[in-house]
Amino acid sequence: MIVSLSERGGDLALTADVCVIGSGAGGAVAAAELAEGGRSVVVLEQGPHWAARDFSQREDEMLPKLFEEGGMRQTLDGAVQILQGRNVGGSTVHNLCYCFRTPDAILRMWREEHGLEELTPEALEPSFARVEKELGVVQIREDEVNELNRIARRGAEKLGYSGFVTKHNRKGCVQSGYCLLGCSYDAKQSMLITYVPRADAAGARIYTGARVARIEAPGGRMKRVVGHAIGPDGSLRGSFEVKANVVVLAAGAVNSPDLLLRSGLANGGGQVGENLHLHPSVIATGIFDEEVHGYRGIPQSYYIDEFIDLESDPHSGAILMPIIEFPGMAAATTPGFGRAHSALMRDYGKTAGLLVLLHDQTSGRVRSGDSLSKPSIEYELEERDAQQIAEGLLHCAEVLFAAGARQVLIPYKPEPLMLERGDDITEITRRGARHGQLVTASTHPQSTCRMGGDPGSSVVGPFGECHDVEGLFVADMSVFPTSLGAPPQITTAMFGDRTAHHILENWKRFTT
Ligand SMILES: Cc1cc2nc3c(=O)[nH]c(=O)nc-3n(C[C@H](O)[C@H](O)[C@H](O)COP(=O)(O)OP(=O)(O)OC[C@H]3O[C@@H](n4cnc5c(N)ncnc54)[C@H](O)[C@@H]3O)c2cc1C
Ligand code: SF4
Repeated sequence: MIVSLSERGGDLALTADVCVIGSGAGGAVAAAELAEGGRSVVVLEQGPHWAARDFSQREDEMLPKLFEEGGMRQTLDGAVQILQGRNVGGSTVHNLCYCFRTPDAILRMWREEHGLEELTPEALEPSFARVEKELGVVQIREDEVNELNRIARRGAEKLGYSGFVTKHNRKGCVQSGYCLLGCSYDAKQSMLITYVPRADAAGARIYTGARVARIEAPGGRMKRVVGHAIGPDGSLRGSFEVKANVVVLAAGAVNSPDLLLRSGLANGGGQVGENLHLHPSVIATGIFDEEVHGYRGIPQSYYIDEFIDLESDPHSGAILMPIIEFPGMAAATTPGFGRAHSALMRDYGKTAGLLVLLHDQTSGRVRSGDSLSKPSIEYELEERDAQQIAEGLLHCAEVLFAAGARQVLIPYKPEPLMLERGDDITEITRRGARHGQLVTASTHPQSTCRMGGDPGSSVVGPFGECHDVEGLFVADMSVFPTSLGAPPQITTAMFGDRTAHHILENWKRFTT
């Protein structure tokens, strides 16, 4: 049963074994596993329930509809744009389908430095296997690698850099290239067409337009969740309460800590909202003589891992990934004005982007803002991370030139740096990448309710249960103990699965 609370209006009072907040990579998996395990489950999702026919492939229509704050979420100082989904299926509806398990070296570091002895590859194998089966994770075929990704591979191979074609979760993909705006062909195996229907079939009651405002746990035990029915325009259309002994909070790494802070919960160690990592990314754009049409085909299939070696240093490094922005986004993020800007945009069809994504050590924080829909996000890139971004951009330029680019644009603000073939690209490292100096984005906020063995330095224990509140679990990207250093959807879904199975196995504890 999927009910639009905004259309229904009025007030609602429900009781459930488990209340799941959010229906993205963590929440949808937890809800399906719990419902199939025999628990009565209520899912509360603030956004609407879209179907394939709603995805019009128009960025001007889709961006404001699909993303938090209409696609305008950003850090408090405006230096980093943050993209997060706001609908049934969460950010998985918009992601680009790279599928990676948590790297072994990261798990080892989490065991050794964060008191999480339980997180061995063997212990996590059943959860990974279940998630990958349901999402249909397979190797991307050679004939599915588009021109944009072939350019990145050509450049990397010429320079002898390590890279590979990844796995993904698409079935029957027609290679339209619109993944970020939602898949009109139901080919992307997002939560929207996998775990959410499974939860629904298993009897979960799923409410959309249901924005949780507060979680109540008097005396350190879960009691109820309260919030508002909200219309598409943000108007309040009623209120709800859900009584449950167990709550799985999976509202993403910005909203989850905001909700805990507003509720005055789980912050005994002062860690809620701290330790924010963003995997900040900056795009270098190569301009070629020939048409590239990088927006056609599967957007990301190649992955350059030459500049990250987690086995020798699990704390830092950078990944290079092909990327193309839609024309409106490209226009917004291309620095410059007037004729100069228009000249750059005229070459749009001949461009290929390569982004540097940083495995960041910088720690920011999330605080509650003026309203529930606009938490305050603070993040200031540290010097060592800034250096890595600058080095990563230099390598992006190297790869693009090696692949045949005639020019490479580095998005310094307000004036971009335009490098011609043969120019000295070390100009990038000379200029550096200080905080706010470059157009920067994040699609992977994480670690704001981090997992750890020590309640003084973490928010949740090894199975996602808050140290301070019995029956309150967190199962989204906010539990990562550190930056992941890899695409995060499979790790997030794995934590959703693992938390659900832990709750099922220990159910008796929550009924007494
Ligand atoms: C553009 C983009 C591209 C990406 N590409 C990749 C990729 O290729 N590979 C990869 O591994 N990862 C990728 N990711 C990241 C991946 O999608 C995330 O790791 C994953 O979806 C995070 O899951 P989550 O459960 O933490 O949050 P989300 O999936 O964002 O879900 C959170 C949900 O909670 C809801 N919510 C928030 N607040 C409330 C509230 N108060 N009440 C009720 N509901 C609430 C939100 O509406 C949302 O639906 C990408 C992300 C984006 C945005
Ligand atoms: S590229 Fe494939 S998965 Fe992405 S939107 Fe098009 S059909 Fe869907």
